[in-house]
Amino acid sequence: MYDINEEGSLKKRDQDHIWHPLTQHKTASEMLPVKSSKGCILTDHSGKEYIDGISSWYTAVYGHCNEYITGKVAAQMQELDQIVFSGFTHKPAIDLAEALVKILPEGQQKLFFNDNGSTATEIGIKMALQYHFNQGNDRKVMLAFEEGFHGDTFGAMSVSGLSVYNGAFEDHFIRVERIPVPTGENNAEVCELLRSKISEFRIAGFIYEPLIQGAAAMKFHDAEGLNEILKICKENDIVLVADEVMTGFGKTGSYFASDHVSTKPDVVCMSKALTAGLLPMGLTSCSQKIFNAFYSEKIEKGLFHGHTYTANPLACRAALAGLELLVSDQIQLNIQRISKSNQEFADRFRDHPKVKNIRSLGVILAFELDVQIERYGGLRDQLFRYFMENGVFLRPLGNTIYILPPYVISEEELQKVHKVLEGSLSEF
Ligand SMILES: *Cc1c(COP(=O)(O)O)cnc(C)c1O
Repeated sequence: MYDINEEGSLKKRDQDHIWHPLTQHKTASEMLPVKSSKGCILTDHSGKEYIDGISSWYTAVYGHCNEYITGKVAAQMQELDQIVFSGFTHKPAIDLAEALVKILPEGQQKLFFNDNGSTATEIGIKMALQYHFNQGNDRKVMLAFEEGFHGDTFGAMSVSGLSVYNGAFEDHFIRVERIPVPTGENNAEVCELLRSKISEFRIAGFIYEPLIQGAAAMKFHDAEGLNEILKICKENDIVLVADEVMTGFGKTGSYFASDHVSTKPDVVCMSKALTAGLLPMGLTSCSQKIFNAFYSEKIEKGLFHGHTYTANPLACRAALAGLELLVSDQIQLNIQRISKSNQEFADRFRDHPKVKNIRSLGVILAFELDVQIERYGGLRDQLFRYFMENGVFLRPLGNTIYILPPYVISEEELQKVHKVLEGSLSEF
């Protein structure tokens, strides 16, 4: 069944035609073909197993090939596969909208379907800009956090933190002003900077990853400070766009990270775990107030944005099945158990000489490995290899090591992941 020769041949054939994302092919090592996945486990062609410690980029939180979800999607495939979503509607989308509105942060009323996390934020940005445009307000600047990440399409790239990868495109970006994330100590300064930006620039909307910036290496920020910022924005009719693409659907211990903050967003961007790792889909929800600014006799005041696969019934069905699991006692108990275990790990290693800034919230656990600077260059790749050799798939960011395991991980598997993290402290 497992064939190491097939592995070698797949690696070669991959190189003939495939251009991988986020990869400099000249310096990258070859891609590892994965044969199968089940629950928390990925298996390669030699039969070696890896615990998926990051839920395949925060998607497969109910476990890979979850039979409850695949069963629902298989049944949907027999009934309605794809339909144009302008002029038509369908039950999977309506059921999903109703189920989501129940758990979304207070005030979310309308759902706009799309394809992925970048288009979810792209539409959030469009909603903010057009909300003001439709009312004749001259507000064309977006506000964002430094080091934020909101995706790879043009609007999403513009509002993301400045990146060395974006040089070719910067001249075409939309206008963005940035503020630092609130740390607790700097809250007053950040609020003062924000007030001065508001008086100087015509700000339409604020896009933010609530509480945790994933791509900035799981950078946590202060909930009180965030709340202050959101309050000031709200007072100034700046549309609050919460990018919950990473944080949504239970990862921080509540359904959404915005639940930890009392000032609620006007717009919420979702993807990743939305469809449980099975099919690609994004969603942008908004309050009735935002929707009303587009509701008009004038056709051009509508939101003229649409993707061909919008609200694909199979993706909707996967999302619905995922939501049913998310709200179940079993998954909620698992999230609590993982949070507690991670917290214990954090407490145990807080004062370890090589561990810096260890932090955990919900199923997310992160720390910086504080080792000799001369090993930094290849450190990330060495860490990646060390974890893989020890049967755990993680993607360190620089010297930041983090885990975000599927909610179905057993305590035994989680302990194995923790053991491998501990092992890295003596290895490096
Ligand atoms: C992953 C991510 C995106 C982009 O989503 P894609 O589906 O990869 O386009 C946007 N925002 C955040 C916070 C993300 O983590």
